[in-house]
Amino acid sequence: MTARDLAIAANRALAAAGQSDMVWGHAAVRDPDGRGIWIKAPGWGFEEIDGDRIQLVSWDAEVVEGDGAPHKECHIHLEILRHRPDLHGTVHSHAQAAVAFAALDTPLLPISHEGALFGGADVPRFTLTGGLVRTPDLGRALAGTLGDAPAALMPKHGLVAAGTSAEAAVMHAVLLDGACRTQLTAMAAGPVRVWSDGAEAAAKRDECWPPSQIDAGFGYLARKDGRR
Ligand SMILES: [Zn+2]
Repeated sequence: MTARDLAIAANRALAAAGQSDMVWGHAAVRDPDGRGIWIKAPGWGFEEIDGDRIQLVSWDAEVVEGDGAPHKECHIHLEILRHRPDLHGTVHSHAQAAVAFAALDTPLLPISHEGALFGGADVPRFTLTGGLVRTPDLGRALAGTLGDAPAALMPKHGLVAAGTSAEAAVMHAVLLDGACRTQLTAMAAGPVRVWSDGAEAAAKRDECWPPSQIDAGFGYLARKDGRR
């Protein structure tokens, strides 16, 4: 599959996973020829993305292929992928459970398979601004917050995720949102008392989320998208 087609599939998979916030949020994929990133065009929902609603955006945030201006927050993807040549996919969404959980300012616990994605560590949080990441400087700061983690919360805003593939970036976003939703549910019912210790969480990260399972999860989302 081309990077362009992968970018279309990644955005549509986010819709299938329930991460839509009308026309906001975007997934991007590194262009293999070094021209920049393939990213969702503004003004469309995740599930509306097709071959006419995808852009190739240069490293200078100029639209090289496709129509219109880029998303204002394309700097999220440009700066993460510019500074991490090992990564190929990125996601920014306004997933509701992630936003709600971030507002509690409490550690994310490995109380589920999804929660073990971070191997027992807390999820990073980007606290420089709750507004739009609309400049290269803010994008660089966000990339610094993300570091080597698969995803980070953006309190008062949403989440960011990255991966060595488009599929991994989407799945990291989906798993973070799922982990937040599960912990919100538990906390609403009472104090959380049971979660994996560091050793179990680290083992579960490798056991539950190897590339084969990441691809299996993404494949499911792609089939779910295809049935709609
Ligand atoms: Zn946003």
